Parts: sequence; structure tokens; C-alpha cells
Amino acid sequence: MMYDSHVGALLDVAVSLVNVLTDGMQRGKPYTAPSDKLAVAVSTALPPGSTDPADIEEDQAAYLAHSARQMRAVFEAVDEGLIDDAASALNALLSSTGARPQLDRVDGEPWQLHFHGANDSLAVGWSAGCATALALAIGSDHAGRLGVCQAAQCDRVYVDSSRNAARQFCSTTCQNRVKAAAFRARQAGKSESGAP
Ligand SMILES: [Zn+2]
Repeated sequence: MMYDSHVGALLDVAVSLVNVLTDGMQRGKPYTAPSDKLAVAVSTALPPGSTDPADIEEDQAAYLAHSARQMRAVFEAVDEGLIDDAASALNALLSSTGARPQLDRVDGEPWQLHFHGANDSLAVGWSAGCATALALAIGSDHAGRLGVCQAAQCDRVYVDSSRNAARQFCSTTCQNRVKAAAFRARQAGKSESGAP
């Protein structure tokens, strides 16, 4: 495993915050973050069952949407090979959230290293945690594992946790779209050349 399970889980949350809360393209169609139902969107981006949308205040949702846009900039910079830009964007987020490590323990379990923010509000806490996990990726051999989907008309992001670091797409949907397009292109080439 590349990261400890806590960091891995935070990277997954970073990916889903970016994919749910930032505008762009998704699997071949334009995607707009649902600004009128931002709290609901935030709750779907966070780990299942962790937060009731009714408990997410508007300013907290807006803060997370802003963090998501900053995190998207990190994925895009890495994708373009601009690691210096990714590092600057992350340092800004680490600083604005006041990200800091802290040992926490649930009764009866061993101490675990968690990442907190300047305060323990929902938005600052998750932003700080995700920023720290991304910083651990950027500051290791795994920087290149942050990616933006290579399929046409999609800019959703992913963290490549495959063994051979060969992932290119946000989802199997996009992988299949690309395969189907390549197949159609081959068929069209065949009929143009007169082959059966
Ligand atoms: Zn995609």
C-alpha cells in the first residue's frame, strides 16, 4: 500500500470534493457544481455517513467549494508537470487552513496521527486534512499519481493507486468511452480503405 489508510482515505475525499464541487466536464458532458444545493453536494463528497447535509451550514459548504477549487489547481498542475505550481498552491492551502498534525485516540484503540486545521469546524478540518494528504503525495515519489482524466470532454481528477501507475481515466465509464471511440475510428478507417 502506498499510504497509510488514513492518508489514503483523505486522498479519496480530496478527489471527491474536487469532482463534486468544481465546474468543468464530466464523462463527456458539461458539469456544474450544484450551487443551490451545495450542502447536499458536500455531504455526498464526504465519506458516507460522516455528515448529515442538514448539519452543513452555507458558509462551511462555500469554504469547502473554495478549497476544492484550490485542490483542483494542484491536480491540474501535476498533470501538466508543473510540480512547482502544485507545491505553491498546496502551501497556500496548508497555510490558510492552519493544517497541523495531531495524535488522536479513540478509546481502546492505538494512537493515530491525524491532521487538523486551525479549528475543528467541518470545512477547515476537512480542507486541512485533504491538503496535508496531497502534500504527502507531492512531497514523495507519488507526486505523479495525482491525475486529470485523459478522456475527451472530461476533467475529473483521480489518485492513481494502481500497482503499475498506469491509470489515465477518472472512471471505467471514461475508459470505455475512449475504447469505443478508438474502435469506431478503426472501423471508419477500414471502410475508407475498402477492407471488409
Ligand atoms: Zn473522465
